[in-house]
Amino acid sequence: MSEIHHLSIQQLITGLQNKQFSSLELTEHFIKRIDALDSKINSFITHTSETALAQAQAADEMRAQGDKRPLLGVPMAHKDIFCTQGVLTTCGSKMLHNFVSPYNATIVNGIDKAGMISLGKLNMDEFAMGSDNSSSYYGTVQNPWSLDRVPGGSSGGSAAAVAAGFVPVTTGSDTGGSIRQPASFCGLTGIKPTYGRVSRFGMIAYASSLDQAGSMGRSAKDCAYLLQPMVGHDPRDATSIKHDIPDYVQDIHDAEAAAGDQPLAGLRIGVAKEYFSNGLNAEVEQAVRSALQQYEALGATIVEVNITDPEITLATYYMLAPAEASSNLSRFDGVRFGYRCENPTDLIDLYTRSRSEGFGPEVQRRILMGTYALSAGYFDAYYTKAQKIRRLIIKDFDDAFTNCDVIASPTAPTAAYKLSEDLDPASMYLGDVYTIGVNLAGLPAISQPVGLNSEGLPIGLQLIGQHWQESKLLTTAHLFQQHTDHHLQHSAIAQETV
Ligand code: GLN
Repeated sequence: MSEIHHLSIQQLITGLQNKQFSSLELTEHFIKRIDALDSKINSFITHTSETALAQAQAADEMRAQGDKRPLLGVPMAHKDIFCTQGVLTTCGSKMLHNFVSPYNATIVNGIDKAGMISLGKLNMDEFAMGSDNSSSYYGTVQNPWSLDRVPGGSSGGSAAAVAAGFVPVTTGSDTGGSIRQPASFCGLTGIKPTYGRVSRFGMIAYASSLDQAGSMGRSAKDCAYLLQPMVGHDPRDATSIKHDIPDYVQDIHDAEAAAGDQPLAGLRIGVAKEYFSNGLNAEVEQAVRSALQQYEALGATIVEVNITDPEITLATYYMLAPAEASSNLSRFDGVRFGYRCENPTDLIDLYTRSRSEGFGPEVQRRILMGTYALSAGYFDAYYTKAQKIRRLIIKDFDDAFTNCDVIASPTAPTAAYKLSEDLDPASMYLGDVYTIGVNLAGLPAISQPVGLNSEGLPIGLQLIGQHWQESKLLTTAHLFQQHTDHHLQHSAIAQETV
């Protein structure tokens, strides 16, 4: 049983079907690991072990009675940005330190219906604002590969929990890279779907025109398994779109069956010089370029494309995302739910002190930036201008996709870094340079591990797809993973037995 946490979702399903282990045994195994090792990582904010064990027992009974749902009884965990009925939902903030959600996010319902078992709620940057989990009210998260490194963010807990072998898969959310960058820092695969593919209902809003939920796991196929119950049209989210829903795992199996010795023959991978710019760490560049050679060896061809200068994209994102955040976060006012200051003297004092005491510095910084950009005198100069540039960024992607099927880039300019006092916010924002364009254009993208640097830290490659092409991304990454073993490396914590 000690190796159970190294198994893929497919192996877990087969093991459950063949009665190699029960769901109860699986769940106990993972809970035991979390209890023994999470004090080193701090990936969970809330544990739901008791309900999980009861659900596991129920899942075993249902399976024995002929219930054929493949994911029945498979453990997972949620980023604490998703509302979970009856369970604390903090979004990494003091503002929601006491918020027990009265309803489930649509994706939480979908995953429940598939029969999966949630082991708890995962640590994250406060309101998903950040790239290294340092803004969480519940403390920083340590990278399971090297405890003095950050796990990335904002879905840092989601990434660290999988990389530590605490759960096989987790949910995450991605507004500007928050699934892909922590996946890259923790040696995982993570997919951010097309905007509108996954319902945002019950996912606490950061920047509504950019936010999208997705899945994280050790392999593309594991991500495909968890993504399936998350996708689909939801009338409760006005930006959710009706679109054909593929069977992601079946598509992977079909691609595998059709694959010859050049499984990726015909795939055109666009490479843009703008994504190999100043500031890209040399070891990251080397690992990404050698992965591209492996892609070529599998039959893909590399074509040159151009995309918008990432510095322009970065400035556009850091104008629009805070603007939307300042509007979204105005609902947290200390009145109906969440943190309320002690002894307010009047209504204005209640608003001001509840927000000043309830929000951390990074969130306050974004609210101030966003409110400034939206204020009457500056609206056109900042917000409107950024919206116009967003349109051009979308067009540049459209043009690039006339020559290629997917676009490849490093996921982040560096591997996981050490948390230091003098990492100023602007330098942290620079780390998002390769991921944010995807959100501005509403495109799907996946990050997959492509090797370790000289310090033994994982490096990620990003593949960007055209709208609705999640299946192509998952299948492509899977075929690559079938012929390589970067995704099979284990972090230091994952190798510890308990
Ligand atoms: N690091 C980016 C930010 O802080 C992206 C965060 C995210 O995707 N939620 O805005």
